[in-house]
Amino acid sequence: MKKYNINKEIVDSVELKCLLISNGVKDDNAVYEIFGKDYRLNVSPLTCNSLLLSDGTNVQLTDLVFLPEALTPFHLRISEDKPALFYENDWIDFVSFHKKTDFYLQKTASGAPYMGNAVLQGCDFVSFQCLWHCEYAASGKPCEFCYAGAEFEYLAKNNQPQPVALAASDLVEIIRYAVQNGDANSTQITGGSTFSGKTEYRHISGYLQAIAESDIPLTGELLLYITPPADLSYIDDYFSLGTSRIACSIEVWDEKRAGIITPGKIHFTSRKRHLQALNYIAGKYGKGRAFSNFIIGLESIETLKAGATFLAERGIIPSASVWMPFGRPVMGSTTAPKLDYFRRIKEMLAELYHRYELIPPGGCGLNVCIEKDIYTYSKL
Ligand code: SF4
Repeated sequence: MKKYNINKEIVDSVELKCLLISNGVKDDNAVYEIFGKDYRLNVSPLTCNSLLLSDGTNVQLTDLVFLPEALTPFHLRISEDKPALFYENDWIDFVSFHKKTDFYLQKTASGAPYMGNAVLQGCDFVSFQCLWHCEYAASGKPCEFCYAGAEFEYLAKNNQPQPVALAASDLVEIIRYAVQNGDANSTQITGGSTFSGKTEYRHISGYLQAIAESDIPLTGELLLYITPPADLSYIDDYFSLGTSRIACSIEVWDEKRAGIITPGKIHFTSRKRHLQALNYIAGKYGKGRAFSNFIIGLESIETLKAGATFLAERGIIPSASVWMPFGRPVMGSTTAPKLDYFRRIKEMLAELYHRYELIPPGGCGLNVCIEKDIYTYSKL
């Protein structure tokens, strides 16, 4: 794992990844013009761009050029004919991008565009960020950090229809293309939170059945992100239909803060039901089959450590995605955490993954998630 010199501090690749995700980057237009021709780099934010640090660490590249008022010290420019990261005017590292794909130009046979429905993530994932709309957000209780939730709430408030869930046949087509043309071997299936377990079950089982009946050679993992159901037998069905691991994401362990930041999850689902489902999966299917995401940057290190430890002791992976504050204030704040916060979270999770032998999914790290990068660091 490489070390970098930033603003008179030495940081490693995991720490730099956290800083880049949470602060965003301003990209020179020339980077798109020159490298967009041969690499997976698109001016549209819907394509979820990422860059590779020179040691291969995959990092979300959120270009804040489109938010002129947003301040970030990080810049992507061209230096010695190569794309390079800068902290203000100080060179940090030469970077690269994933190889070019026509994925985002495609439409399914029924006319559904790939762009907006799915993204290629890291080196091996095709991810569906929100296959069905979030009923919690539409009812006025979105999570404060969630960009999709804000959109569902806006549509509901303005009496506009919510987007229709992607058809199972479209999902299969998109995965097939990503596997055959985009180096993907794994997929993430995610939707919004739902009031009725049955509605969500119909969506998920339809998708899983369609994947199971297809001939797609998914040699990696199939990750499912669900609203924890009252009827736990749904979970058994999801595993029998080919799911590798299931997430019931708690996001914020401090329950008082969670009531404000994730009101729908606390009010409608409850912490108790999240833990019930996670414990059920870990107890019946074993260590590492359940995981729960935390948004890194929204609570104290102490409460986050308490939550992550509680889960890890029970064989549940505490996974971690870095909060992106720009444009979505949480509890009135848009201030990204400092280096020391990320460093201590990294040490804490690395220790838990090592002690409880928890191996997060994925070949290389995903764009805004750091659990795989921290696991790799824990091996060092
Ligand atoms: S419940 Fe999920 S989809 Fe809904 S607002 Fe929260 S994070 Fe977003």
